[in-house]
Amino acid sequence: MTSTETPERSDTATLQKRFAAAFMPNYGVPPLAISRGQGCRVQDADGREYLDLIAGIAVSSLGHAHPAIVEAVSRQVAEVAHTSNLFLHEREIELAERLLILLGEDGRVFLANSGTEANEAAVKLVRRIQGPGRPVIVAAERSFHGRTMGALALTGKESIRAPFGPFGLTVRFVPYGDAGALRAAVGPDVAAVFLEPGLGESGVVPAPEGYLLAARQACDAAGALLVLDEIQSGIGRTGAWFAHQAAGVRPDVLTLAKGLGGGLPIGMCVGLGAAGAGFAKGDHGSTFGGNPIACAAALAVINTIERDDILKNVKAVGETLASGIAAIDHPLLADVRGSGLWLAAVLTLIGDNTGGGSGSRPILKELPNGWAYRVSTTLVSGLDKLPITNGIAPDIRVLINKSDSINGVDPVIEKAKVTVLK
Ligand code: PLP
Repeated sequence: MTSTETPERSDTATLQKRFAAAFMPNYGVPPLAISRGQGCRVQDADGREYLDLIAGIAVSSLGHAHPAIVEAVSRQVAEVAHTSNLFLHEREIELAERLLILLGEDGRVFLANSGTEANEAAVKLVRRIQGPGRPVIVAAERSFHGRTMGALALTGKESIRAPFGPFGLTVRFVPYGDAGALRAAVGPDVAAVFLEPGLGESGVVPAPEGYLLAARQACDAAGALLVLDEIQSGIGRTGAWFAHQAAGVRPDVLTLAKGLGGGLPIGMCVGLGAAGAGFAKGDHGSTFGGNPIACAAALAVINTIERDDILKNVKAVGETLASGIAAIDHPLLADVRGSGLWLAAVLTLIGDNTGGGSGSRPILKELPNGWAYRVSTTLVSGLDKLPITNGIAPDIRVLINKSDSINGVDPVIEKAKVTVLK
C-alpha cells in the first residue's frame, strides 16, 4: 500500500499469486478477487461486474455498501470501536433487546464473532445446564455447524469432520429429516439435539414438514434441549425472521450469525426461557464479542429489514427467482427447492444406469441431495429489476456456489457467464 488514501489495486492474476504465497492452502486460491460491491452486484479486480447470488455465503443481507450500514458503522467507529467485555455499551444492549422482541420470547443473549463461536457457546451452555450425566449430543448427518472443535464435532459432513477427530464430545448422528430415527436416538443420556432448520451447506435441503416439531417433542420427552442453528437460515433469509417461527417450533437455544451483521462479523447464542440462565458469571466470554461496530451494523440490518418491509421482498423475489430457475429448460436441472432467498438449483446427471454393457444409453439419474447450486442472494431489491423470464438473464455474469463438489458437471445455467465457486 503506497498511502492510506490510495490503497493498491492489483489485477486478479497478481493477487492470486500473492495470495498463494502468503496464505495457508486451506481455501485453495479463489478464482476471483472482489474489489467492490453495490447492492446485489460486485466488481472483480479486473473491472468485470457480476450479479451476486452468493452474498458472502448468505451474509450480505442488505447487499453491498448499503447506506444504512455505511452510516451506522462509520458513526460507531468514530465514537468508539471497541470496549471489550469489561464494559457495557448501549448498542449491544439495544441489539439483544431487539432480538428478543423479534423472537417474542423471554431469553438471554451471548454475543460472539462468528457462527462457529455461537455454536461453541451453545455447546458449553448445554453442558453447563445438563451436566456430566448426559454426555451425548444428537446431530444430523450432512449438517454443518462450523470449523472449531466443538462445532466441528457436531458437523455431519464426514469429509470436513473426520480428519480432525477424536473430539471431546460424544455425538450421535442421525439421518436428517427422519423423525423416527431422531426419536430413537434421543434418550436419557442426551443433553441436546442440534439441528439446522434446513441443511444449508449441504445444498439448502429444507426440513420435512413436521420434522422440527418431532424434534421438539423428542427433546421434551427425554429432557433434552433443542438447539436450532439458524446461522444461515435466520434474519429473513427464508422470508420469515427465523425459519423456526414459520415451523411453529420454539427452541431452547438458538444460534445466529452471517446475515445478522450484514457483512460485519458477529455471532449470537440465545438461551430461551430457563436456558437463558444457564451460564454463571465467568462461565464464558469473548474479547471482541459484542463489539460496538458489529452491533451497530446488526441494528442497521434489523432496522432496515423492518422499515423497508424486506421480508415481503424476500418472498416475492424468491418466488420470481425460483420460478425463473425452474423455467430453465435444461436436462441437468431437476428441481428448485428452498424458500425465500434461500434456494438451490438441484441437479441431475446425464449418466448410465445399465451397468455399462453394450445396451448402455444415457439417462437422467438423481444426484445425491447435496449436488446443487446454492442461490442465496442479498435480501434487498435489485434482483426484481432483472429480466428473469426464462432463467437468469443470459447477458450478465453470475456468481453462484456449489454445495458440494460436482466436478465434471457443467453449470446448469450455462448460457449465463457463470462463475461457480466451490
Ligand atoms: N452453522 C451453519 C448452519 C452455517 O451455515 C455456518 C457457516 O456456513 C456455520 C454454522 C459456521 O459459521 P462461521 O463460518 O461464521 O463460523
